[in-house]
Amino acid sequence: MPGFELFGEAERKHVNDVLDSGVLMRYGFDGMRNGHWKAKELETALQERLAVKHVQLVSSGTSALTVALASANVGAGDEVIMPTFTFVASFEAILALGAVPVLVDIDDTLTLDPEAVKKAITPKTKVVMPVHMCGSMADLEALKRICDAHDLLLLEDACQAFGGSYKGIPLGSYGDLGCFSFDFVKTITCGEGGAMVTHNDQYALHADHYSDHGHDHVGNDRGAETHPFMGYNFRISELNAAVGLGQIERLDEILAIQKRNYTILKEALSEVDGVTFRRVPQGGEENYSFLNFFLPTEEKTRRAHKALAEAGIDGSFYWYDNNWHYYRKWQHLIEQKALGKLPKEAANGLQYLKTADFSSSDNWMGRTISCLIKLGWSEEVMKERAARAADSLRSIA
Ligand SMILES: *Cc1c(COP(=O)(O)O)cnc(C)c1O
Repeated sequence: MPGFELFGEAERKHVNDVLDSGVLMRYGFDGMRNGHWKAKELETALQERLAVKHVQLVSSGTSALTVALASANVGAGDEVIMPTFTFVASFEAILALGAVPVLVDIDDTLTLDPEAVKKAITPKTKVVMPVHMCGSMADLEALKRICDAHDLLLLEDACQAFGGSYKGIPLGSYGDLGCFSFDFVKTITCGEGGAMVTHNDQYALHADHYSDHGHDHVGNDRGAETHPFMGYNFRISELNAAVGLGQIERLDEILAIQKRNYTILKEALSEVDGVTFRRVPQGGEENYSFLNFFLPTEEKTRRAHKALAEAGIDGSFYWYDNNWHYYRKWQHLIEQKALGKLPKEAANGLQYLKTADFSSSDNWMGRTISCLIKLGWSEEVMKERAARAADSLRSIA
């Protein structure tokens, strides 16, 4: 997954353009910036790549989620459906707006189970937020049908799935809103950065203002601009955007290496008894940043994870025990350990978590291993690693 492995000349060139003028901010200073608008250029490049009408670049994926929700007028007490398997950023963004994260089971796609989503809908539900974890996607058509029937918004967290697609549509641009992260370990990186995308003019306008203190960006005197509504500062710097411009030029190269290495590993593991693979919804094309597979029991999966580590296969993850990516270790959320008081609506809305039953998610996550696909592994190295991984999995049978 990590684009940082390929950091090189293209990134350096764009960063140097910014250093030469010294204009590190994305807005204003027109006369000083030698024609360089790195954030704007990256927004245009993303617009083209994702075939989406609007892109708002921001400071992180977490900011992108917050800005996306705010743009769609999500606020105190609104319920946002999200999966049990994701990154903590999902509930952080929801809670930042005083809204309520409603955790819902995953299925064998390792993202939202549409049947479980249906059961979680209440009159307060406003958004369904699937998270395309580890390079593959939710069943977007089924989720869209549910959203249309209940008048809900579909927000895709595509932070880990840049470059993947569903029925020919780039992930992130299928729903009403989509979010990406360009933090240091994502498919392409800005160092820190993120983007919100949408086809909706109103949400795009909201995002443009909200991410910059409510500035309406009319005219060329920042001090004289008006503030139609309150915002916040989620701006990206020109330096970070410059890195992203270098990286997006190499996206196809990154995806091609990932696909090659993923395919070598998948072919080798297909030969191992008891190994089955995560379901990719029909019409889905992964970004190949991880290979995700199941073993028959939790006990075997724990042994398999240990065997892989002992065989020197780094980058294999057992999310079930992970502090950051699965609800089971989110005691801080469940017990509402915040530095200050949470808004009343959020505090009340989170009570259900103390007794919630996610055994259906546990059944999948307890048996899941994800292998990170690195760019630095040559075809030869990958073949050797794949054979070693397959052998170590056979040894625990
Ligand atoms: C990385 C990530 C985020 C947050 O992105 P940051 O840029 O690190 O804030 C959100 N959701 C998912 C699924 C992620 O993997």
